Amino acid sequence: MSQTPTTTSRRELHARPDKEGQVTRLVIMGPQGVGKGTQAARLAEVFGIVAISTGDIFRANIKGSTELGTTAKEYIDKGELVPDEITNAMVRDRLGDEDVKAGFLLDGYPRNAAQVAELDTALAGFGWELDGVIELTADREVLMERLTKRAQDEGREDDTPEGIARRLDIYDKETAPLTAAYAERGLLAQVDGVGEISEVTDRIVASLATQLG
Ligand code: AMP
Repeated sequence: MSQTPTTTSRRELHARPDKEGQVTRLVIMGPQGVGKGTQAARLAEVFGIVAISTGDIFRANIKGSTELGTTAKEYIDKGELVPDEITNAMVRDRLGDEDVKAGFLLDGYPRNAAQVAELDTALAGFGWELDGVIELTADREVLMERLTKRAQDEGREDDTPEGIARRLDIYDKETAPLTAAYAERGLLAQVDGVGEISEVTDRIVASLATQLG
């Protein structure tokens, strides 16, 4: 097996001379259990950018018993979205960090229409725009199966059957429709999330190459 996470390199992705040295700014969307976090980490490595997961930031705050963590936990435990004003402020803050200047991949944000608008505004404030939005897809049965297994393996507190069903419903209702807006802007790369991890990464990179090329 190769050491690199995928067979398509960043150089190939940015093969056009004018794209050399381009900073990559991406969003990855997809229902819980589709493998977003795994792919986000791999893509961050491929593109040499930082992966920013709002779920991870919330969990770190919960673990550290911060004020933000205490507030977020109330919503997360119920399988609900953390209120926009809290989430938006947290993301805006993170986007200002030094490591984000080299590019980023947002995982788990934006999750509703208000967050899409907020992200556009925040990025414009930095003079930035998104290069692409990846949507990973999988059938609900596959997701339920994976999430139930993850609940057993990792013991994540929000992975109860009710929590899982609720979050999948929220995704269908609030987050999935956002992809239409990104598609209209010519930013959407829809990718089948079922298959070997490296296969899915390759699919994403290939799809982005078409998208960004
Ligand atoms: P995740 O790890 O992305 O599945 O996120 C875990 C939980 O964190 C979600 O179920 C939400 O309660 C909360 N969360 C993560 N990202 C967001 C967001 N963009 N907006 C609101 N809540 C979020």
